[in-house]
Amino acid sequence: MTGAAELARRLARFPRLGLATLPTPLEPMPRLSAHLGGPRLWVKREDLCGRGLGGNKMRKLDLVLHEAVRQGADTLVSGGVVQSNSQRQVAAAAAQLGLACHLAVYHGRVVPAGPAYATSGNALLNRLFGAVLHDVPWTGDRNGAIAALVDRLRQDGRRPFLVPYGVSSPLGAVGYASAGLEIAEQCAAQCFAPAAIVFCSGSGATQAGLAVAAAACLPGTAVVGIDIDAEPERVRADVARYACGAAGLLGLEFDPATLEVVAGHAGPAYGVPHAATLEALHLAARQEALVLDPVYSAKGLAGLIALLQAGRWGAGEDVVFVHTGGAPSVFAHLQ
Ligand SMILES: *Cc1c(COP(=O)(O)O)cnc(C)c1O
Repeated sequence: MTGAAELARRLARFPRLGLATLPTPLEPMPRLSAHLGGPRLWVKREDLCGRGLGGNKMRKLDLVLHEAVRQGADTLVSGGVVQSNSQRQVAAAAAQLGLACHLAVYHGRVVPAGPAYATSGNALLNRLFGAVLHDVPWTGDRNGAIAALVDRLRQDGRRPFLVPYGVSSPLGAVGYASAGLEIAEQCAAQCFAPAAIVFCSGSGATQAGLAVAAAACLPGTAVVGIDIDAEPERVRADVARYACGAAGLLGLEFDPATLEVVAGHAGPAYGVPHAATLEALHLAARQEALVLDPVYSAKGLAGLIALLQAGRWGAGEDVVFVHTGGAPSVFAHLQ
């Protein structure tokens, strides 16, 4: 085991812009713990991670956009669905850094619950932050559309930087490993080691960063990613790729066979909430005044609750739920 101090030294070698407000709080959830009658539950407030209403992409952007600025970029380009939290955080970071921002917005992946889907939530914030939106159909050559957008910007004399999908890359995962280190330090300060860290997993670098950090400084802690894409094999493969890449950049060992991606809580498809998702969303709101979203964080909590009800953790244990953000999209998804 590398240990927290050594992991901190290695992470400090990576330059960052300071976009993320760190550390984010680790808070107890006494009412939800009592309501569920299981282990002591904690929440890592990644929804408070920075400007633009926060979320888990800020730690990744802190490193990835440092590289963009170093390369002399003046324009950020990013692809994502209409209510993408990732794009909204890219748009916020661009505003904060004084860069232009062009978003390829994928239409047609999610069937909207109502008219607010296209205009409210993250879609509204993207416009507020001054991003230029380009409509791209979900079905079709999305990567080709983004490449053409980057080419067009270059021909116009801009210096575009293409942010990877979900800000997920080996460098993005290094950025997210800082969250794992913070959890280790914050739990140690409260004199416990968590039995597990549970969160939802999509494009993969969040889980990759947490898994690499836990392997280095929380050896007894399970890192449990809940698949929200209804594509657990794809998620697992991406997490493994980013985790091995991040471990390489940090000079650490990592065994991808230890990765845990839990299937069965994504509902029928990405962006479609099932009953357990909505129940988890309401529980978090009523028991702890935490605002989750039906696409990501509420599916993560629904997965945690299912594992807890299956008896995975005892009442004497501590489990950390990572609130990865996404609350702005409730205004677009719920009526
Ligand atoms: C992007 C996102 C995730 C998933 O993180 P990945 O690094 O893409 O796996 C989880 N929750 C929210 C709210 C997100 O926006």
